[in-house]
Amino acid sequence: MTGQVLVLGGTGEARRLAAALVAEGVDVLSSLAGRVAGPVLPAGDVRIGGFGGADGLAAWLVEHRPRAVVDATHPFAARITGNAAGAAAVTGTSLLRLQRPGWTAQPGDDWRWVDSLAQAADAVAGFGTVFVTTGRQGVAAFAGVPGRCLVRSVDPPDHPLPAGTTLLLARGPFSVAGEVALMREHGVDVVVTKDSGGHLTEAKLTAARELGLPVVLVRRPSVPAGVATVGTVEEALSWVLAR
Ligand code: NAP
Repeated sequence: MTGQVLVLGGTGEARRLAAALVAEGVDVLSSLAGRVAGPVLPAGDVRIGGFGGADGLAAWLVEHRPRAVVDATHPFAARITGNAAGAAAVTGTSLLRLQRPGWTAQPGDDWRWVDSLAQAADAVAGFGTVFVTTGRQGVAAFAGVPGRCLVRSVDPPDHPLPAGTTLLLARGPFSVAGEVALMREHGVDVVVTKDSGGHLTEAKLTAARELGLPVVLVRRPSVPAGVATVGTVEEALSWVLAR
């Protein structure tokens, strides 16, 4: 076994954990999927690209023998989270899931929960202008929506957007005032989001509340059974340091 900790990353939490571990003198290797052009790189060592499924990750763990793995990937990155759980179980590797809490409705919110992007597209079918903030990979689900779509993503979507779609390329954090102005400018009637949680992109929820707009939220996939889970970087840091 090496002293290295493998952090499965691609989130702000993963970068903050890597920085905190490096500051404690821990040898950290962060792993990124390689999806985003010009990613913000974490402190410590970095590897980029997939492992080749659960079997590939298990083989990697056997070869490199990290002292622990922290899966700090996005709450909706279900495949890598499932692969990490499977690979950790078969190789006997300590695994922690770090996942920020989801959002909670406030008085005045009109939130409509759905289980998938396809259900979200059905839920917005009767609205005029739909603000789609589900990320580049989720945009295709809204191709058949009859109304106008305002799509915002960090990188351009892979597939061409349907006619009548306005694309905004932007990376959070966003301000409430900015979100209110944007929704007014485009005449937004409904907002669609995944329940990503966190502060960087929650201003759209406050703006929707202020404007009296409904929000369609896609529920998170569940964490694989039996995987220890924490909600904060501080808890993840303590977990690693205790090993
Ligand atoms: P996913 O569907 O769960 O994973 C698809 C495949 O991408 C995995 O099977 C794995 O390939 C590879 N992969 C994913 N994360 C990886 C990592 N950290 N290191 C190495 N390989 C990784 O993931 P996704 O939803 O496409 O997200 C990809 C990355 O973007 C994740 O790291 C995630 O944290 C980040 N991200 C995702 C979202 C989102 O909404 N889904 C939002 C913001 C950031 P192999 O099977 O070949 O190992």
